[in-house]
Amino acid sequence: MIPFNIPAVTGKEEQYLRQAIQHRKLSGDGPFTKKCHEWFEEHTGCSKALLTTSCTHALEMSALLADIREGDEVIMPSYTFVSTANAFVLRGARIVFVDIRPDTMNIDESLIEAAITDKTRAIVPVHYAGVACEMDTILSLAETYGLWVIEDAAQGVMSTYKGRTLGAIGHLGCYSFHETKNYTCGEGGALLINDERLIERAEIIREKGTNRSKFFRGQVDKYTWVDLGSSYLPSELNAAYLYAQLEEAAEIHRRRMHKWNMYYERLQPLAEQGVLDLPVIPDGCEHNAHMFYIKVKDLDERTRLIAFLKEHGVMSVFHYVPLHSSQAGQRFGRFHGEDRFTTRESERLLRLPLFDTLSEEQIAYITDVIYKFCGRL
Ligand SMILES: *Cc1c(COP(=O)(O)O)cnc(C)c1O
Repeated sequence: MIPFNIPAVTGKEEQYLRQAIQHRKLSGDGPFTKKCHEWFEEHTGCSKALLTTSCTHALEMSALLADIREGDEVIMPSYTFVSTANAFVLRGARIVFVDIRPDTMNIDESLIEAAITDKTRAIVPVHYAGVACEMDTILSLAETYGLWVIEDAAQGVMSTYKGRTLGAIGHLGCYSFHETKNYTCGEGGALLINDERLIERAEIIREKGTNRSKFFRGQVDKYTWVDLGSSYLPSELNAAYLYAQLEEAAEIHRRRMHKWNMYYERLQPLAEQGVLDLPVIPDGCEHNAHMFYIKVKDLDERTRLIAFLKEHGVMSVFHYVPLHSSQAGQRFGRFHGEDRFTTRESERLLRLPLFDTLSEEQIAYITDVIYKFCGRL
């Protein structure tokens, strides 16, 4: 059986975990957390990085930092993970879903302006599969209407848009280190702060609404409750594990790109014959091989292909029942305009196994099974 995902292991994880244990400092913001923060600040160009317990929590922190309140509206695609929406719904916002572009599965930037009302507070672009949204358009709309831009870059670590790192482009950016992402510590995330004015409050929100971070730096002589907050900082054990992955990020990236390119080359003839569609990477975007997906004709064909791959020992998955058609999505949001692509494209998308130790032989085998399914081998 070829699994869908196997998390990367670089070999340094155990050593760093042992070091963290020896430090006798397991709670958050110890030496490994600092190393991770520095790594992100160096590699992304953000003003400040803060590790969080998940991307979900980085999104929740963003909603708090943006002061999202009852009745505010937040614009995002419907084709995304639930946390993108939940983080804002928790603050009382209504979600306004906008259709996606069929080429990248990202929010269609040309439809955003029509969805803006006097209640709109934020735009949340989701960089699907680590391929950037059209950020120039989104930033300029945000500027015109005075809106926050909060990037859900859960899948976008190490990807760029016109040379800028995803997550470091909007006011705030959110990363995930869940086991299914390129770099992982099991469960984890980071908030990238790109506007220096937000740093102090972010530290407070992350430390249960206290000024403990300032206290530890010796800037105040006692710490106290100063704002809203929760416990959003991860243990040193998670940070130690993550740091072992970040040190090898370039190598993991290189290996994933190699697999992605191999899939692409082998399946290109099928795309040229119009049998299936392959991912599109727009000019100016460098992706991170987070995911390799194909799009077949429709839901029925996808169901049959999943079963066929399984019969041949290959695990493939699909995801994202569009949020606007879910029970909670209908309660907490509305779809602005016509759903031309969100439902249709989501029903024909299929994700193939992609992880750093997937072999060339396995990719050749998987693509042969797809050719066989298509009856062209
Ligand atoms: C994985 C993912 C999340 C959630 O990440 P967690 O770290 O598991 O909370 C949010 N948004 C998107 C687009 C994701 O892919």
